[in-house]
Amino acid sequence: MAIIYKTDEEVELIRSSSLLVGKTLAEVAKSIKPGVRTSELDKIAEQFICDHGGKPSFKGYNGFPATLCVSVNSVVVHGIPGDEVLTEGDIVSVDCGVFMNGFHGDSAYTFEVGPVKPEVSNLLKVTKECLTKALETAELGRRLGDVSYAVQEHAERNGYSVVRELVGHGVGRNLHEAPEVPNFGKRGSGPVLQKGLVIAIEPMINLGKKGVRTERDGWTIRTLDKMPSAHFEHTVCIKPEGLDVLSTFEYIEEVLIENSN
Ligand code: MG
Ligand code: MG
Repeated sequence: MAIIYKTDEEVELIRSSSLLVGKTLAEVAKSIKPGVRTSELDKIAEQFICDHGGKPSFKGYNGFPATLCVSVNSVVVHGIPGDEVLTEGDIVSVDCGVFMNGFHGDSAYTFEVGPVKPEVSNLLKVTKECLTKALETAELGRRLGDVSYAVQEHAERNGYSVVRELVGHGVGRNLHEAPEVPNFGKRGSGPVLQKGLVIAIEPMINLGKKGVRTERDGWTIRTLDKMPSAHFEHTVCIKPEGLDVLSTFEYIEEVLIENSN
């Protein structure tokens, strides 16, 4: 599959979709607390997206049944919202996509449910740092492998492992486009980062070993050792003047600060 580079106008449409994802995740964040059912979070997200003129990207995608992927503790990604109730000490990755004006936006954030163990909290901190390192590396003229390497290096230096089976991706008129954006790789390898490249960078980092398996529902990806896994994702665009991060955690973090007060 060839990479489809985006025009400035197309990038602005992807930004609109990505911003709505950020606002949706913030709306969901308000309800992340012990006792909430993951299906309730999904309902909030679907309503919010539709109220703001978007459509959930994930619902119906290859038959996925929900608006959000809600992945608790040892679930890496693609958890299906349902009757599961969040309890204190859990971590929960919430992944959301919005389709609007012909383009998708994609972003994910891993939340703590009440106080969590320090070792788990550190996994979240380091996984988010992996994303930051990737953003710092993703400059025009560098190679995709440099970005992949930056994620892997930071995760492994902290004693964590990188999921191999799932990767980031191009974003545009389709939710998943070329190129694949692995969270592991070699510096100097892969395509050169060119103007108009829009990709979702999404480190998935495990506290224990790297192995994962797909559960019988055909979607849920869980660590083999049942240890926790974290996931953060931004949709970004390569530009000559520097990386343009199209999604945002700003709204989410406002809610998290309010919740902690
Ligand atoms: Mg996503
Ligand atoms: Mg994605």
